[in-house]
Formats: sequence, structure tokens, C-alpha cells
Amino acid sequence: MNELRSDPLTGRTVLYASGRAGRPNDFAPAALDAGGGSPPADCPFCAGHESLTPPALAERVGPDGRWRQRVVPNKYPICGRREDDVCLGSHEVVIESPRHVTNTTELGQDGLAGVLGVYAERLAHWRADGRFPFRMAFKNVGPSAGASLTHLHSQIVALPMLSTQQEIEAALLASQDSPADAWRAWRERELADPARLLAEDAGLVAFCPTVSRASGEFWVVPRHGGPFFEDALPDASASDRMAALLFPLVARLEQRILPAGYNLIVSTAPTTGVLADAFCWRLEVVPRVASLAGFELGAGMFINTLPPDEAAALLRG
Ligand SMILES: [Zn+2]
Repeated sequence: MNELRSDPLTGRTVLYASGRAGRPNDFAPAALDAGGGSPPADCPFCAGHESLTPPALAERVGPDGRWRQRVVPNKYPICGRREDDVCLGSHEVVIESPRHVTNTTELGQDGLAGVLGVYAERLAHWRADGRFPFRMAFKNVGPSAGASLTHLHSQIVALPMLSTQQEIEAALLASQDSPADAWRAWRERELADPARLLAEDAGLVAFCPTVSRASGEFWVVPRHGGPFFEDALPDASASDRMAALLFPLVARLEQRILPAGYNLIVSTAPTTGVLADAFCWRLEVVPRVASLAGFELGAGMFINTLPPDEAAALLRG
């Protein structure tokens, strides 16, 4: 299969080239600590090492009074913290477990539900703060995805610029009268093909998008739309339901691709602008089994060797 596909909203272009899957590769993905060994003695995210991180900004505490998830400022932020910094923003780390777990399978479905709840709390916090229109939650699992510490953690950023501007402008062009129509049409188109659907429950749908940047990429979106991820998780039972949908898919992906890694990205609506209410939140899981090379960087498009309907069949098990 050789085919060029573009997504009208995100502007992403993917060249599907199945034949490249069999090419020789002298460079195996860097090994990910799959959790089998003992944790590093100086891991700053393990319980008992709280003094190695800045004081917590927020914590989720279990019935035993001990923390389950812990949010701390990133010691190496991508943005400044002083009011006179050129890029003033927030960059936080979500420590996903007091145990030294290194992947979501080890974290478990309950742990994942807690982490999703923390995402919603912190995104809502920065929405209420009002200074930063762009907010995003993400995590890098494995060195090929950009993780520098093996202890499972996520990051929350809040920034003054809008990285979703291109998508917003495309929605405006596609539907001048009602930008929400552009996202509605996009959803209907994406969810119409049962071959790419993975799971559906509680108003959420998981699917492999038509324009998948990576083999096995999948997204979760609200079936009937909704701008803000944080509004989709108002309480623990909503987090539980999202985790019930997401966990088996992530666990199946990890079985297939670890020790290579993946990124999980939560996009939520900007807090300002005419399209804030029209945006559709989404959660993307992007495997990193291949790296961005010269073609991708030079041409500005991605190469994928696995069509999304075939990826969906693998992820459905
Ligand atoms: Zn640790």
C-alpha cells in the first residue's frame, strides 16, 4: 500500500508505505527498563524520596493516607516562571505511582484512572488561572518517546501561545458559520468506518485515525463532541470509565511494542478565542517504533508502514 493522506483539521500528512516495514534495521530501539530489575536507588519519584523533588503542588491520597499520584514542578521546565520571562508558563510532572512502575500495564487500571483524574484536575486548575490559553497533558514512555526517567510520569504544560492555531484556522475555513460543524463532520467521517473502531463506552470512542502518524496510533474522542477534556472527567466514576476503555488498549499496545516506547497526548480546548467551545478534545496514543528521519523533517510529513484498519485489528486483539 502506497497512499498519501491528509487530515483537513490537524493539517498532518502521512505517506502510507507498507513496503518499508520489512527494510533492514541495524539499530534496535533502546532498551526500556520493563520493570523487571530493582529501581535505581536514587529515583526521585519513588515513595520515600519526596525530598528529592520540589514540594508537591497537588496529591491524590489513598485510604491509608499515603499518596497515589503526586504533582510537582518540573525541575527542568520548558518555560519561564517569572512574570518577565519571554515564555512565562507552567510545566509540571505527574508522578503516577509511589511504586517504581515503568509502564501502564504495571500501573493497572485503577492507577490509570487516578492519573486521568489528575490530568483533569490540573488542566482545570490552569483553565481557572486564566493566563495561559494553551494547556496539554502528555507522557513519554520509553527512551524512544523522550522519557529521561523510567519511573512512570506525565507532564502538564500551560503556555501563552496556541499550538492548535493551524487546526483552529482550518476549522474556520472549513465552516465559516459554525466552526463546531467542522469538528462534527470530522468525527462523523472518522467514526464511520467500523474497521478502524477499537472500543466504545460511556460516550467515548477509541479508534485508529485515517491519518495515523505511526503504526498502531489510536485516539479516544467523545462520541458527541465536547471542547474540554477536564469537563469529561467531573468525578472518579468518569475517570474509572475512561480508564476501563483505555487500559486494555494501552496494555495490548505495550505487549506488542515495548521496549520501544510511545507518547500519550491529551489535547483540550484553548481557554480563549472564538473556537474554544467548538474544539473537540482528544487523547492520542502514538507508538514510537520508528524515529523521525530526514524525509519526515525535510518534507514535513510522516511515513507509516501500517494502515490504520490493520493496526485496529491488532489492537482489538
Ligand atoms: Zn522510582
